Amino acid sequence: MTTLINPMASNVKDKEAYQRLNFLYQAAHCVLSQTPENVELARFYCFTQKTVAKRLVIRQDPSVKRTLCKKCCSLLVPGVTATVRQRSTKRKKRLTVLRCISCGQTKTFLNNLKHCLWVDQPEAQLENESKPEQDPFTKELQNEKTQISKVLNRDFIQPDAFV
Ligand SMILES: [Zn+2]
Repeated sequence: MTTLINPMASNVKDKEAYQRLNFLYQAAHCVLSQTPENVELARFYCFTQKTVAKRLVIRQDPSVKRTLCKKCCSLLVPGVTATVRQRSTKRKKRLTVLRCISCGQTKTFLNNLKHCLWVDQPEAQLENESKPEQDPFTKELQNEKTQISKVLNRDFIQPDAFV
């Protein structure tokens, strides 16, 4: 199990960029929770987040993307920067409409309990899981690294060296 988890955690491409996006997103939430009237600062963080993701061609998680206004980049928090309403179509399908208070842009989501995101579908998961197994080079590299670290621990780092 550890061989499956470790490559995913250590070999994430653009790890620092993801950390930066995560920080900006959390900072925007933090600003809105502490000073809800300071919408501009939260918008600035989200705008920066969007710009970084666009420049590095990083795909953001749908759960993140759904809380950002497409038009003015403000963070959509229901009751603070956005309103949430339930609507129904002519074919009597229920919708959730999220409206940005700043610019009036709306996002519409169909209330479908069986809806499954592409990321959560088994087809998408197969692509992700097969990569580390098909790549023998990274496995060899990790084996070498562990062997080197064992040798280093055994031969060079001795308890007397620190006295
Ligand atoms: Zn907006």
